[in-house]
Formats: sequence, C-alpha cells, structure tokens
Amino acid sequence: MNLLTDLFIDGRWRPGSAGRRFDVIDPADSSTIGRFAIATERDCLDAVDAAAAAQPGWAATAARERSELLRAAYEILTDELEVFAEIMVRENGKSWADAIGEATYAKEFFRWFAEEAVRVPGDYRLSPSGDKRIIVDRQPIGVSLLITPWNFPAAMATRKLGPALAAGCTTILKPARETPLTAAYVVEVLRRVGVPPGVVNLVTPVPTGPLVKLMLDRPEVRKLSFTGSTEVGRDLLHACADTVVSASMELGGNAPLIVLPGADLDEAVAGALLAKMRNGGSACTAANRFYVHSSIHDEFVRRMDAALAEVSVGSGLDRSNDLGALVSVAERDKIASLVDAAVVDGATVVRGGRASAEGAFYDATLLTDVRHGSTINVTEIFGPVTAVVRFDHVDEAVRMANDTVYGLMAYVFGEEREAIGVARRLEAGMVAVNRGVVSDPAAPFGGVKQSGLGREGSSEGILEFLEEKYIALTA
Ligand code: NAD
Repeated sequence: MNLLTDLFIDGRWRPGSAGRRFDVIDPADSSTIGRFAIATERDCLDAVDAAAAAQPGWAATAARERSELLRAAYEILTDELEVFAEIMVRENGKSWADAIGEATYAKEFFRWFAEEAVRVPGDYRLSPSGDKRIIVDRQPIGVSLLITPWNFPAAMATRKLGPALAAGCTTILKPARETPLTAAYVVEVLRRVGVPPGVVNLVTPVPTGPLVKLMLDRPEVRKLSFTGSTEVGRDLLHACADTVVSASMELGGNAPLIVLPGADLDEAVAGALLAKMRNGGSACTAANRFYVHSSIHDEFVRRMDAALAEVSVGSGLDRSNDLGALVSVAERDKIASLVDAAVVDGATVVRGGRASAEGAFYDATLLTDVRHGSTINVTEIFGPVTAVVRFDHVDEAVRMANDTVYGLMAYVFGEEREAIGVARRLEAGMVAVNRGVVSDPAAPFGGVKQSGLGREGSSEGILEFLEEKYIALTA
C-alpha cells in the first residue's frame, strides 16, 4: 500500500523543513507503518502564505467549478473505497466494517457540499423607513484552519473540507498525530481532481499548541474549525480571542441512553449495541451512560449480555472481526483503569473487563450497578464499555441525563410519544429516538453546553464558512 507521509503545501508534497519525522503506529500490533513529516514554524507559515495567496482566486472561482471538483473527489473515493478504508484500519485500528462505514460517510460530505456549493442563499430586504434597499450577500470567510481528531480521521476531515471548499475558503488541514495518513490520502484525492495549489494544505506541527497558535495569530487566518476534546477546544477558544478568529467547535460528549419502561427491548438492545459499539465506542456520539428503568433492567441486561457475547475482537484486517483495536495502548490502559475504578466504586462486571496482553484491544464489556456521578459515569469512556445505571422514575432519568457539562448526543428508547417527550427535555444538540445512529450529511451535527459551538453537515454547515455582508442601496 502506497502511503503518503509528507506535508502538502502550495500544491506540492514536501518533507518538513527540518527533515524530522514521527512514527505512525498500527495499534493492532504496535508496528510502525509510516514515518510522517513534522511541520516546523517555517512550514506552518508557508502553509498560511499559500492559503492566503490562493484565497482571492478560489473565492472568485465559479461555484459550479468548485462543486464539480468536490463531486469528482467523491467519485474517486467511491471507486477507491477499500483503499480508503484500509488506511484507516491500519493507522486507527478500527474494524473493517467501521472503516467501510466511515469511508462511506466521509465521502458523502464531498457529494453533499458539491450540491450545497451552488445553493448559497443571499437576501434582499426593504428598510422599514423606506429610504434604502438592503442586499445581504454571503462571502467566504477566508483562510480556514481545520483541526481533526483521530477517532474519525476521514469523516472529520471531509466534514470540514467539503463546506470550506464549497464556500470558497482556502484551507490548512491539521490532522491528529495518530492518524495523518488518512488525511494525506484525502488531500491527495483533492490534488488529483485538480484543486488548485494553495487551496488545500496539510501540516502536522510539533509542538502542536504553539504552532497552531502561531497560525491563528496570523491575520490572514479567519476561521478555526476544530473537532476534538473539550479541554483542547477551550484552550483554542482562548487562542482565537487574541485575533478574534471565528471558531466552530465540535467537542467531547457524555451521551446518556435512556431505556423507558415502554421500550421494545429487541429494538432497544439493537440500538444500544450500535450506539455503544460503533467505532469500538471511540465516538463523540457513543452512548456513555445507560439509564435503564427498573421494570426492564434485568431483561435488558440479559439481552445485552447475550448480544455482546457474539462480538468478536481482533485486527480490522480480518474482515470478520466486529471490534477492532483502540487507537493506542495508552488508550486501552485508560479504559482498563476506568473499569477498575468503577468496580472499586461498586459496579459489577457482567461481561468482559479484560485488556489484551498484545496490541491495543479491550473486550466488549458490560457493567451494572454503576453509580450515577462515579468516575466512569462522568468521563467520556471512548471504548466498548456499557455502563448501566438503574432508575425508577422518568424525571429522575432526565435529571441524571442532564447532569453533565456536555450536551452533544442523547438516545431514548421507549413508546414513541413518550420518548419524544423525554427527547425534548434533554440538553443535547442531537437526540436519537428508538435509533442507535444519527449521522447523516443532511442533518445538522453539533452540541450544546460544553460540547460545542456551531453545526457541521446539512445546509447549516456551509454557513460556518461564510460571512454576511450587508450592502445598502438607495430606495
Ligand atoms: P484532542 O483534543 O486531543 O485532539 C484533537 C486535535 O487537536 C488533534 O489534531 C490534536 O493534535 C490537536 N491538538 C491537541 N492539542 C492541541 C493544542 N494545544 N492546540 C491545538 N491543537 C491541539 O482529541 P482526540 O483525542 O484526538 O479526539 C477525541 C476527542 O474528540 C473526544 O473528546 C471526542 O469526543 C472528540 N470528538 C468530537 C466530535 C464531535 O463532532 N463533537 C467528533 C469526534 C471526536
């Protein structure tokens, strides 16, 4: 497999100016699969300069042309879906099914925003005083810095690149250090279809924080679109304040999953499995806290246990495995210590609770008797651990579900009318009712509270990269 391991600046692949590299590790067997270029201060500034120089030309490019480039990239990703998926399996560790699922989801953002590029709305209004006409124009915000996490290395990149490019913004993509190879592949696809030099740049700076700050401090950079943890997002919001850079934030979650007494248990268990096990639990939308009504608690646990018994664990290169590796041994150990702490706190291990000796694997795990407010209940687990809390009254479940600083995702299973009523009371940007997955390019994705600012995907997603300009005309 031909893996790209250089920086991409001003339309050219090039090594970092200091010639240094870092290892990219396959977490399934801890082998080194690539040595990726480290971007220095010089490289980061070159990327900003290239994006700034390309900005006027790209903004002036016909929307139809930008649209067709995105569409062409979508077609290549469709043709090369398995290549795309395999890179993710290798550097992220995810299962083959998860990798194909992500590749499919990721390419949809290029198709969706190819369609949105030619549909940017403007506005025409009359002033109440009758002395002017008001035109509201939407223009690209300008050079955009896009920072992505390791858990969805493809979809988080295309969900930002798609709308930015559609809107007419030039970009600097900074992927997570764990997963730069997927980002490099996506950037190469955009180069192959003819996106002009400077419009897309790729850097992997070390040290990350100071060099990201260096780029944000350049007056040409007008937008930060960040997906990652709430902790880093908070720091970046401070960093954006200095130059008043517009910031969109997709941050951490701590999704509750409520099973009401009227739930169809087959549906609830199937949905819970998806909500928990998709991407091995390493999803910001993953169900993290299961609140199950006492009347159905034991039966739900029995069926969930039976379903988890069927989950096979192993390398994603073996396409039959359901659950791949975590992104690193450190991540595996973090999950193991969360489970250990839960047990000390009174939780019962019904299934799993075991880390692999080799590679970054952790068994599909089911815990009951978890205490609301315990460490595992307030921490984003990011692994295949189902932690169940029992409740007696719906109001109590809603109170516990909302008892968090996060507000990205929530799930409710129950009789539909009652479940929708509960969904409306939950403090979350997205609520799934009797469903285990919500991701859809047509839906506005994002959180409330400390889970984020702004929305990605949908018709809202492109607005994050556009600024309104009011032009006043005489009546
Ligand atoms: P992270 O915050 O550690 O890193 C995210 C990105 O920020 C990476 O590219 C990283 O290199 C970079 N980064 C780290 N420190 C930085 C700094 N000081 N300045 C600038 N950039 C910095 O997150 P992660 O561990 O890669 O990803 C997991 C987190 O992402 C979880 O909290 C998860 O919930 C969240 N996430 C959110 C969404 C969403 O849409 N809301 C989607 C996926 C992941």
